[in-house]
Amino acid sequence: MKMNKDVDSALHILKGAVQDVLGATLTTSVFADGPKGRLTVEMDHAPSDAEMQMVEESANRKIEQNVPIEMFKMDREKAELTYGDIIYDRFPVPDHVRELTLTSIEGWNINCCRGTHHKRTGTVPPIRIVKWRHRPSREELEISFLLGQ
Ligand SMILES: [Zn+2]
Repeated sequence: MKMNKDVDSALHILKGAVQDVLGATLTTSVFADGPKGRLTVEMDHAPSDAEMQMVEESANRKIEQNVPIEMFKMDREKAELTYGDIIYDRFPVPDHVRELTLTSIEGWNINCCRGTHHKRTGTVPPIRIVKWRHRPSREELEISFLLGQ
C-alpha cells in the first residue's frame, strides 16, 4: 500500500507505544487514507480506556523526544538473529528476499519497512486516537488515528 510519509512514520511510533503499554507485538494490518491511519494488532483481550489513553500519550511523548528514525539494510539471517520475529508483520516477507530494509526507532520499534519516513520523530504531526475497537473473534485490536491537532 502506498502511504504518505506522515502516516507511515506515525505507524512506527504508535506501534512502539502499543508494544510498550499493551504488550501487543504482531501487526496484522495497516491502512492509510490521507491524514488518517489505522493500525491493527493481534490482541486477545480488550484494553481499557485508560490504557488507550496511555498509548496515545506515550506515542506523542516519543514525537516530543525528537529521536531519529533510521533506515538500513541488513542480511536477512543476521537481522533475524539480531532482532527476532519482532521485525515481521503477519504477512511475511517472501523467502527469496535475502536482504531486508529495516526501519528503526532505537529502543522503541523496529520493523521490516521500505516506506518513506521522517528523519526524526519530532517533525511527525501529533497522533490522536479517534476510535478503537477490539474484535474478540479475530483476536485483533484496531486503532484508528488522525494526524494533526
Ligand atoms: Zn514504515
